[in-house]
Amino acid sequence: MTKNKSKKDIVILNKNTFKLYLDEKKIQKRVLQLANKINREFKGKEPIFICVLNGAFMFFSDLIRQITIDCEVDFLKLSSYGDSKISSGKVTLLKDLNCEVRNRNIVMVEDIVDTGLSMKYMRNLVMQQNPKSFSIATLLLKPDSLKYDIDVDYVGFKISNKFVVGYGLDFAQKARNLRAIYQLKTNGKI
Ligand code: 5GP
Repeated sequence: MTKNKSKKDIVILNKNTFKLYLDEKKIQKRVLQLANKINREFKGKEPIFICVLNGAFMFFSDLIRQITIDCEVDFLKLSSYGDSKISSGKVTLLKDLNCEVRNRNIVMVEDIVDTGLSMKYMRNLVMQQNPKSFSIATLLLKPDSLKYDIDVDYVGFKISNKFVVGYGLDFAQKARNLRAIYQLKTNGKI
């Protein structure tokens, strides 16, 4: 159950306390900045934006609504963390792309790049189909967690290693509906 306290500054999920980290206004402002940059850089290139389900659905829909150039969208689904706060270290493809990637400009849209394993997997998957270009947009990046060589072209916010929820990001499938992003509070500190 989600519990509200003082204007939703705190969210409690399965006895874990999460504290407000990025509010709605801050997120929307940054999403617009990213979209403006993408609009400039992909003008005339008709990119295909690929939403990585489930986590990126909210960022993706907000970002796409700010995209003013001609574009297409498609969806890819990978296995999630399950009920854990730690990556299983395995990636499974649950839903493949439905678009023709060859010779197209691809922009992968992720909620968060943590170790980079999922992005490495998706990059291999897409690159096998010879796109014209491959770019990555992620709302969140945990630079200190990165274990793979991943170049992220558009980063919303660089954050610390702590687990976050909300704005599409889940904890055991909960909290995806929250409009803000909340960070796990550990040992009374955050
Ligand atoms: P990576 O493969 O880069 O280690 O992890 C990417 C995926 O792990 C993300 O798409 C997301 O589903 C999940 N993930 C990584 N860090 C977090 C986090 O702090 N919170 C949540 N809810 N999911 C995360």
